[in-house]
Amino acid sequence: MSNLRLHFLGTGGGRFVMVSQTRRTGGLRIIHDDVQIHIDPGPGALVFSNWAGLSPQRLNAVIVTHCHPDHYGDAEVFIEAMSHGTKQRRGIIAAPRSVLYGSETCGPSISAYHQKLVESVELLRSNASLHIGNLKITAVEARHSDPDTVGLRIETPSLGSVGYTSDTGYFPELGGLYRDLRLLILCTMRPRSQPLEFHLSTDEALEVIRAAQPKCAVLTHFGMMMLKVNPETEAKYLEDETGVPTISARDGLEIALNKSIEASGPGKKAPPRIIET
Ligand SMILES: [Zn+2]
Ligand SMILES: [Zn+2]
Repeated sequence: MSNLRLHFLGTGGGRFVMVSQTRRTGGLRIIHDDVQIHIDPGPGALVFSNWAGLSPQRLNAVIVTHCHPDHYGDAEVFIEAMSHGTKQRRGIIAAPRSVLYGSETCGPSISAYHQKLVESVELLRSNASLHIGNLKITAVEARHSDPDTVGLRIETPSLGSVGYTSDTGYFPELGGLYRDLRLLILCTMRPRSQPLEFHLSTDEALEVIRAAQPKCAVLTHFGMMMLKVNPETEAKYLEDETGVPTISARDGLEIALNKSIEASGPGKKAPPRIIET
């Protein structure tokens, strides 16, 4: 039986949370059987990955969804780890144009030197897919201040699919791009009534969850205003409004997808939440 685990090594987003580390910005580790992928390794990814016992040397791929430092800060050190101290051409980098080559607005954020250390470099753009192990990863349209930003759909052979919006502004088609998922992770930077261009607020997350109808939604990538009102309150509001079980991620949260979805941590004391799907 396959096993899919997601480790939230960081749940903070935006400049002020990143520089103050009010929440960590280490991104998300996905482990499917023996394949390990790190998505958006912001500052702290290296430290908290090792701290969580998830050696970056075991990575098979690093995915960076766009060219902002809360998403790419530790990408190059992860690539050095993945290539076993640069001794072996190993692993995959998947990222959009801005991250790999630079664009009119930003980047590149992974040097040409680091791109030569890996086995393959994959360009992410909307609707393009790649395979990592037996996971199929498809880039999804996002509308962000880095116009090359992509969200992700990650399809497993037997455990369903997981979506990750990355940073994006709301647009009416957004929810429809994330249908048929077991788990949808939404970068929800702002709380209700506090919208910000190019990011999702709780009000917009509501529209996305309503349209996408995942079995479970997870809010993450919180900005200062969100942390002030408490993301747990916003998650409960979304769950009440949509009927979709909604979890507010915390640093160290682990979610396992098996027959059910089980959210546990941080630490052993927090009782796990089991969502039957
Ligand atoms: Zn961000
Ligand atoms: Zn961003």
